[in-house]
Parts: sequence; structure tokens; C-alpha cells
Amino acid sequence: MTCRRAPRRNQGQPLQNNPHTTLITPTAPVTAATHGGRAKCLQRLVRLDLPVPRTVALSFDAVHRIAQGDLPDISAILGEFSPETLLCVRPSSEDPDWGGPGAVLNIGMNDARHADLCASLGREAAAALYLRFVQSYAIHVARLDPDMFDDIAEDGASGLKATLHAYETETEEPFPQDPADQLAGVLRSMARAWEGTSARLLRQAKGAPADAGLGLVVQEMIPGVGQGECGSGVLQLIDPVTGLPQITGRYLSQSQGREALGAGTAALFLEKDARGPSLQDVAPDAFTALKRHASLMREKLREEMQLEFVIENGQVHILDGVRVARSGRAAVRIAVQLAQDGIITPQEAVMRIEPHALNELLHRQVAPRARRDLLGRGIAASPGAATGRIVFTSADAQAAAARREACILVRRETSPEDIRGMHAAAGVLTERGGITSHAAVIGRGLGLPCIVGASSMKFLTGKNQVIAADGRVLKAGDIITLDGTTGQVLAGEPEMLEAALDDSFQTLMGWAEDFSDIGVRANADSPADAQTARNFNAQGIGLCRTEHMFFEPGRLTVMREMIFAETSADRAAVLERLLPMQREDFTQLFRIMQGQPVCIRLFDPPLHEFLPATRGGQRELAEALGLPVSDVIRRIEAMEEYNPMLGLRGVRLGVTVPEIYDMQARAIFEATLKASEEGDPVVPEIMIPLVSAKREVELVKRRVDAVAAAVRSEQGRGFDFRLGVMVETPRACLRAGEFSHLTSFLSFGTNDLTQMAYGLSRDDAGRFMSDYVNQGVFPEDPFHVLDTEGVGELLKLGAERGRQTNSGITLSICGEHGGNPESIAFCRSAGFDYVSCSPFRVPVARLAAAHLAIGHQISGQEDETD
Ligand code: PEP
Ligand code: MG
Repeated sequence: MTCRRAPRRNQGQPLQNNPHTTLITPTAPVTAATHGGRAKCLQRLVRLDLPVPRTVALSFDAVHRIAQGDLPDISAILGEFSPETLLCVRPSSEDPDWGGPGAVLNIGMNDARHADLCASLGREAAAALYLRFVQSYAIHVARLDPDMFDDIAEDGASGLKATLHAYETETEEPFPQDPADQLAGVLRSMARAWEGTSARLLRQAKGAPADAGLGLVVQEMIPGVGQGECGSGVLQLIDPVTGLPQITGRYLSQSQGREALGAGTAALFLEKDARGPSLQDVAPDAFTALKRHASLMREKLREEMQLEFVIENGQVHILDGVRVARSGRAAVRIAVQLAQDGIITPQEAVMRIEPHALNELLHRQVAPRARRDLLGRGIAASPGAATGRIVFTSADAQAAAARREACILVRRETSPEDIRGMHAAAGVLTERGGITSHAAVIGRGLGLPCIVGASSMKFLTGKNQVIAADGRVLKAGDIITLDGTTGQVLAGEPEMLEAALDDSFQTLMGWAEDFSDIGVRANADSPADAQTARNFNAQGIGLCRTEHMFFEPGRLTVMREMIFAETSADRAAVLERLLPMQREDFTQLFRIMQGQPVCIRLFDPPLHEFLPATRGGQRELAEALGLPVSDVIRRIEAMEEYNPMLGLRGVRLGVTVPEIYDMQARAIFEATLKASEEGDPVVPEIMIPLVSAKREVELVKRRVDAVAAAVRSEQGRGFDFRLGVMVETPRACLRAGEFSHLTSFLSFGTNDLTQMAYGLSRDDAGRFMSDYVNQGVFPEDPFHVLDTEGVGELLKLGAERGRQTNSGITLSICGEHGGNPESIAFCRSAGFDYVSCSPFRVPVARLAAAHLAIGHQISGQEDETD
């Protein structure tokens, strides 16, 4: 353990068990909450009997008092160490991620110690230790400008002399020689640095409370320089990017602190390595001891730890252990492996992975170490990274795909006409739009990296140019990278990490499902989406937006013909052509979902999305209708609405042109019978969109029931189905009690509900949302994180009133919020049965749901023991 060498100073009181300034022993009163994570970790290492240098821990209170000028008994602290020992002071914040002031090494160095060490360590080493201390004391304690030492080129004795001279000239004082003065100065400066304004702001940015405490540890220095094999380094048992077992780290002979990690040093590898010499070559026993210590720490501290170590004449000392910083994919592998090794429980493994962090595994990512050449920013609308050549039209995207060339589709905003281009592109960048705009919704559905509302860049799409935030001009064919996870647009092609849906991920997801108590379904509009949903073990489809099916190549024109049909006979003829297409769509979905619930929303277009906006589209439609283009344009103008999102949408179309819903209901029922012949019985769910009045539900229900009866009698076979209402207008929430007895389920469409509750266009909010969030008007983008206060109140009212007249009604949400962990917490506490989100968000939602259930279990147990 820690007892080393010469007798201690013994002048002060021993610091055993003083709650504020205590020697770290196995039983000392040290906790992370009072002395910080580093002090607590050192105590754990001491308890494991690892070779940890003697250490005194100062509590948060003690450090706070130091900042106010009230020093602890310095001689008592020094009394814990032998007089010739050099010391270092390191920060120990409650959470190591909150940082702290830099460590100061070699406290106690003075002219006398320097002379002694010249004899024992050699002149070079002694001078290096002293010089390092003078410099760090000058910068951190005397607060001198670091540049003042730039001109001193020499090291060794002459460098030391010049450095001391520079210090004394600048401060007009001799360099302090008394170790007590030195230690007091270091403690005071570190305590004050932590309480300064910039440090407060920095740690607040990292999520720490502004008044978070700082502990300090005063530790005996093992110099890392001197006779025999001496040096310092770090070691860990895994690769921090992949999480795979691999001894990684560096070691530098005759070095201190983290010098081994500096660029351009002659650091050694740890394990034998073909690329160069290793610690295993030069000090095999020390290497074996380090590996043994690291394994013990992994097992007993129940975490992959990075060891900071020093070798002194071949002997290993462990200075510190910190949790290995890791990528998202490494985090999953580590947690699962620890659970599989019986070191932690599966519940704990699940709790250790932050749900949002899964995005990094589900999609390609920019490698954490890659250099980022930032061109601009927008809203991170669909995660993952994609590189490709800029194209400005969907036709060019399709042409690029035909050449097997990756491209990024750049548009002001996307419309249904861009769907083919989006399918062909590797990523999508738009100037306009918010988190629920067309590009964002489609991008998430396709798992396509997407950035919308990139208003920091100028889109001159007419000129086929985009101007980056710093003025660089980007043209068609230039290579850019979208980081849809952060919203950054980058120049060129940075290094990427591939998606990692490996065994560890699958195992973690299996555990998450076992522990969850709210269902997770997927929003899926195509067989490909449904397959993704199935692969991620979604518990059904919670929303199939049927209008997206008509964006498929070859169908858009038929759909437009239907919209343009002037007579009932014309419409019936077009619907006749659409029926088999829809029947095939639904049959495929039912087959893929294998008997799981599939909730199909009846047609809900904002009609404008289907009208051709380009000359080419108008010409195509004119050909299909056998009309002159001018006629088509006139008709489009006649159908234009001032506010299409509040116009002839959803059930309003179903009421005014009921044949469309009749056709869809028939397609659903015929597909049900077909798919049920081949596999598990299917019970389809049919959902009526944008309801605001009871009569709408009655009218649609009557027709859907009639179609069901007709199909049953035509086919001579029975089937069940469930009819539900999509609650996405404020009035539907308020009046849910009026129509819920007519339905089996209510699914809250929180995209439209948010839009209508705020009176905030979901397609235009991107323009000013960041200003609103930055100025604290909204805590978050309400299209992204559910507004639990306002929109949440509407949800609660709707759920409550719905249950009053139909106690067994199924409740869910299917807006984009369904994939957001904070919003899932709200739904779970409101007693909803499931959430439904884009297929690629299903794993995030499942993990979030498991966290909530496990967290609830733990707090329940705590309540019982209270
Ligand atoms: C909603 O409004 O929340 C919803 C899911 O429907 P859409 O996004 O298709 O309008
Ligand atoms: Mg909606």
C-alpha cells in the first residue's frame, strides 16, 4: 500500500479521519459527494491494496474556505509526508467530467532539494523537476503570462537559472523556498480558479451546477525521473473508440504527469508492437504488474478504468484511475461485456447507456478524432453522417445514383417531387424547415442524414451555389459532409465510423425490452421502413402515413389525376387504378409485421404537397390528363389555399370526397384477408386524421363499417379491425369524451397538436427557433421535445376525457416526440400504452423506456427502505 521510505515530518497533527482534511486510508471519511470523484477513487485503490502514493484529501468545504482565505493547517498536511518528498496537487470535482484546474507537480522543489536531487538523480533530472515547478507556479500561482518563458530555449541547469531569473524579475521577489508557502500558494490558487466566473460558466456548460464543489488531493510525487527504468504513462484495457479488448496507452521514460501523451514525444507502446519499442520490452515485470492492477480495478471498480502510473526504478505506482473516455459504440460494448462477465447486472448495463448516445451506433458517424472543417450549421433533423457531391435537383441526385456516385441533395426545402431524389441521395440539406418539416420527416424515415433550416448558409439554388457561413462558395459537384447528429455541414470527407449494430447492441436492446413497461412502435410508410422497424423489434406500426405511399415513383401522377378528377366517374376510374397498388402496399406491410398491430392512417395530405410546383411536373400532369399545360396551371391556382396546413386536409377530405377513404378501407380489408391466409392473423387499425368534431368520426365510421361489411360478404370470410382517432387538433383533445366511445384508440399527433397549440408553423419555425431557444423564450424546440406544460396539458385532458367515456381505450402518441426520451417519460407517467416514432429512433425510445421503468423500480425500492 502507501507507506514509503523516510520518516514523516511529524510537525502537525496527523490527519486521520478529519472530515475536511484527511489522509486517504481504507476507512477515512471520504465520499465523492464531499471530496470528489478522484479522492473517492483513490480510496478505492487504497482498499484494493494497490501501490498508491500517500495522499491527503481536502473536502469541498475545505477548498471553499481556502478560496475565502481560510487555509487549513498546512503543517499538518505536510506532516503526513516525509520531509524530502515532493508533492503534487490535483483537482477532485464531484463528477470528473466537470474538470477543474490543472495539476501542479513537484511542490517542495527549492534550491536545497535541487542540490540534494542533483546528487541522487543527476543534474539534468533535478533541473528538469525544478524548472517544471517554477514554470507552473509562475503561471498558476503568481499568475504570470505563460509567454514570458518562450524565449528561454535551454533546458537543464542554464534553463533553470534563466527561468528563476525571469520569475524574480517579473515578481520582484525571490522564488518561494518554504514548501509550506508553496503548498499554501498552490491550494489557494486552485481553489480560487474553481470559483472564478469563467470556470463557473465552463462547468455549467458541461451540465454541472454553478456552485458545484471542488475537492483537492495532495499526493506524494513519485518523480518518474532518476536511476534505472523510470517514467510515467497511462494504460487501459480497451480501445476507447471500438470498446474491443486491447491494451492501449503510452509510456515515456524519464517523464512526469501526462508528458507521454504529448505530440512528438518518444513515447513507447505498452504491449509489444511491430511499430516500435514497448514497455513490455523494456520493463516486462512492470508491464505484467500494470495489467494485473488494471484487471483488478475493472473488476472491483466495476468499470473500464484508465490507470495513470509512474515507474520508479522498475517499481509500479498507480497515481490515479479515471473512467475511460469512450465513444458511444465503445460504451455499449463495455457495459454489455461487464454484465456478461458478471461484474454488473444487466439493469445496470442498460442504465449506463444514455439513450441519445445510441444514435452514434445506428448510423455512420464522423469519427470523433476527425478534423472538422465547418461550413455552416442547421437543425440536426436526422442523425448520422453522409458525404457526397452537391446536387441541386432531384433529377441530378438520381443521375448521380445511376453513376453510383454519392451525392448530397441541397434544396431550399423539399416537396413530394423530391422524394425520388431523396431516395437517391446520401443526405439532404435544406435552407428552410424545422424538425417536423417534409425533409426532416422523410429523412428520419429513410434513415437518411438530414440537416434543415441551415440559415447560417446562403442558398442561391437558382445559381447552383451555396455560400458557407465564412463566405466560401460551394458549387454543384463539390464534396461536403453532413453531420445530421450535430447539424454541422462540413467541407470535404472527414474520416467516418460505420454503424455498429453488433451483438453487444442486440444484447443491450434485448435487455431493454425485458425491463420496459411502455410499448414502442414505429412510424413506417413503406416495406423498407417496416423491415427496419421489425429489425429493431418495434412492437408494431403506430403510424403508416398513407399519403407517403403516393410519393412513390409512378404513383404521383395517378394521385394528381385523382385530385384533378372533376366528376365522380373520373374519380372512380382513377381510384380503381389506385386500389390494387394500395392493397399490395398493405399486404406487404402486414406480411413483414407478421401479425403485429399495424395502424394505417387514412389519407392526410395538405393538398398543396401533391400539386406539381415545377414546369416539368406540370407538363407531366398535362400529358396524363390530356389537357394543355395552361389549363393545368389554372386549375392548380384555383386549388391553392392560403393556409394549406389548416385547409382541406385529413378527415376534411374524407368527408368531402369520401370515395378516397372507401378505396383505402377496401384495400386494407382485402390485404388483411390476403396476409392472414399466409401467416399470423392480422387485426388492422384504421386511424382518422385531423379530427376536430364528433360528426366527422361518425361519418367516416359509418362508411368504413359499410366497406367492411361489403368485403366480408364478397369474400365470405370475417375479420376484425380497430378504428381510432388521431387527436391532433386542440378541439379534439377538449372534446375527446364525445367520440371516444366510437373508437378503440386515440393516438395523439403531437406534431400538428404542437403547431396548433402554439399557432406556430411547423414548416417555418426553423427560421427563428434557435433565436427563441437562445433567448430562453422556449426552453427547447417544442417540435423536438414535447412541451409538457401546454401541449402536455392538452394531452392529459384528451386522455382523461377519452377514458371517461371509454375506459378500455388504447392511448398513444405518434408525433415525432414519440422518439424523444423526455417526451416518453411524460407519456409513461400519463399512462399511455405506447409511443410510436421513426424506425431508426425505435432503439433510442426502447432504451429510454427501459431507463424509466428501472428508475421507477429503484426509486420504489428506495421508498420501501426509507
Ligand atoms: C402529427 O401531426 O403529429 C403526425 C404524426 O402527423 P403528420 O406529421 O403526418 O402530420
Ligand atoms: Mg398530423
